[in-house]
Amino acid sequence: MQQEQLVESINQLLLDALAKRASDIHFEPYQHSYRIRMRIDGVLQDMTSPPLTLAKQIAARLKIMAKLNIAEQRLPQDGQLVIDHYAMRISTLPVINGEKIVLRVMDNHESQLAITDLGFTAQDLTTFQQILNYPQGLILVTGPTGSGKTMTLYSGLKILNQTDRNICSVEDPIEIPLEGINQTPVNLKAGLTFSIILRAFLRQDPDIMMIGEIRDKETAEIAIQAAQTGHLILSTLHTNSSIEAITRLNQMGIENYLLASSIKLIIAQRLVRKLCPHCKVVANELIKLEQEVIPHFIAMGCNHCIGGYQGRIGLYEFLVITPEIQQQILNHQVITPINMISLQNAGKNLVKQGMTSLAELHRVLGDFR
Ligand SMILES: [Zn+2]
Repeated sequence: MQQEQLVESINQLLLDALAKRASDIHFEPYQHSYRIRMRIDGVLQDMTSPPLTLAKQIAARLKIMAKLNIAEQRLPQDGQLVIDHYAMRISTLPVINGEKIVLRVMDNHESQLAITDLGFTAQDLTTFQQILNYPQGLILVTGPTGSGKTMTLYSGLKILNQTDRNICSVEDPIEIPLEGINQTPVNLKAGLTFSIILRAFLRQDPDIMMIGEIRDKETAEIAIQAAQTGHLILSTLHTNSSIEAITRLNQMGIENYLLASSIKLIIAQRLVRKLCPHCKVVANELIKLEQEVIPHFIAMGCNHCIGGYQGRIGLYEFLVITPEIQQQILNHQVITPINMISLQNAGKNLVKQGMTSLAELHRVLGDFR
């Protein structure tokens, strides 16, 4: 293929990926074929498969766009490229049949950070806004990678982002640049860790601190201490449910009395794909949800969507640390929240509303009855 033609088709492919709201684009050489896939709404989908003979040219072109070393094919490289005002992170990796390249689209659209777009229920929204106004304490968002935790935190920060507050965030890496917030990236190569940055923040007259993720005891200790001394701290943890966050922090070596007095709210969350409104159909059989027998929708697929789905919405479980829960944490008791809507029930509500399918809920939450 002519060079100009290749440049044009790669540009077109990247623009197409952006139009489809892909989060990642994979370029994969195999022994007998070449495959390009895109992750859309959290699921990988096959795109075009150019001839294998173009593998090297495609890799070279992407590396040139990101100013990487095109001669280096034996070591992984990483960098960044910009197309149509969108930044993409690029990483290369030697594989048995050449180089695999993955582009990750950096979502820098501030407009998407509206708290009302997260999919909170009216009750959740009120709770979140109330607790964001606390002068001090710790707010945790939990869930696996790709469950939208950072979006939730950023939406909160966006509300708090006002002249009268000094907001600092430490992240690895910074996902969305936000004007008005002092964002510091972790740099392990330079020895700049979460805890070193947090200590520096504390010397900078902070009101609110966002910690990308609590991964170790040292970070957890600083976060808890800061949350008890007049700072509002927002962070994430890698746990499956809200209650597990307490156990996880215990395992890191944080005492229950510290947790009870500092944590105000723990949110567990997941993202599920929304059914495409143009092609969803009512399933033949009814399902039983919470004593109720109701109709539900299934995904079909049309030219408006991919596989019957279009966009995603969050499922949330809100564990508010009430005085009762505080007492249970202090006494090392089983935590039994009253009125908490579990992730499963939040998902069932979306199925009931026809927003998502039962199959999608099972894909995200695993099998349940
Ligand atoms: Zn459709």
